[in-house]
Amino acid sequence: MKPSDIGPTAHRIRERAKTLDRRVRLMEVCGTHTHAIGRGGLRSLLPENVELVSGPGCPVCVTAQRDIERMILLADLPVTVCTFGDMIRVPGLHSTLEQRRSAGADVRVVYSPLNALTLAMDNPDRDVAFLSVGFETTTPGVAAVLLQARALELKNFSVYTANKLVVPAMEAVLAGGSLLDGFLTPGHVSVILGIEAYENLAQQYRIPCVAAGFDPLDVIEAVAQLLDCLVENRCGSFVQYTRAVRPGGNARAREVMFSVFEPCDAEWRGLGTIPGSGLGLRAGFEAFDAAKRYALPEVDAPDPPGCRCGEVLKGYIQAPQCPLFGKVCTPRHPLGPCMVSSEGACAARYKYG
Ligand code: SF4
Repeated sequence: MKPSDIGPTAHRIRERAKTLDRRVRLMEVCGTHTHAIGRGGLRSLLPENVELVSGPGCPVCVTAQRDIERMILLADLPVTVCTFGDMIRVPGLHSTLEQRRSAGADVRVVYSPLNALTLAMDNPDRDVAFLSVGFETTTPGVAAVLLQARALELKNFSVYTANKLVVPAMEAVLAGGSLLDGFLTPGHVSVILGIEAYENLAQQYRIPCVAAGFDPLDVIEAVAQLLDCLVENRCGSFVQYTRAVRPGGNARAREVMFSVFEPCDAEWRGLGTIPGSGLGLRAGFEAFDAAKRYALPEVDAPDPPGCRCGEVLKGYIQAPQCPLFGKVCTPRHPLGPCMVSSEGACAARYKYG
């Protein structure tokens, strides 16, 4: 799609919305889509009866408070903790990883799990743990690193796993009663899964899903495709992001991922425990499990008082409907992860309005 196509596409959306003559709620599952929507000012192009709501696709945002607390406990041990950047500012009950770093903990921001593995290889006298938080997009890379660590018989490398699967969360949102008319599914996850992965869900709930790229032009085109489906009464899994997504996805990446990880029950912020929605290490990789290696205790950690991230992540409310939004909770002083993360719905609405 070219920038000059945006006018005709917006016109197509308005015409379809008129035909439907009812309120239409579409969920962008992924936080990167949320930011593309803000960056492109796409809400201003939509008719009043078409609403975009955020979903549970920002990995930092959906990480349970219990996992955040355990990561902070890990940082207080004589271990070098490696993490992607957003995680260090997520508030725990009493501290953040960033604050622990200021107090002397060795917390480092890395750009890839391979950076953490290299650090462990270069420093055999130092224990290194990688905080593995992410969906099917990043988990194959973590799996590849763990296969390498096992082949090298590294004794000083481990991973704290909080990896999650997208489709069970989409199903939990629908089963929980969110009234949605369609999903914009994440382009990068769909590169790995393929569009067939959403087909059962689409048929079971009679809902269209469109895998979208991350440019605002991609997103507006995908919204138009969803409205086409609704007007024509079609459900199923479709793709807008044809330059990257293949129907069967990336089988090799899935093979690597599932050779190291297996589905397990996982706790999500806002969604509770969803059966089979997480990825735990398979037998044979226990030695690399940071939670076991350092005997991290189970902790009971409530969400920050007043924070409504859970409702934002289920599409129940828009971020500005949280009473704390922009007042006590801002990107400089975030109360919840949705205001911290570069993929967070609250951060997107604060930045773009
Ligand atoms: S505005 Fe802040 S407190 Fe409110 S839901 Fe978002 S992150 Fe939580």
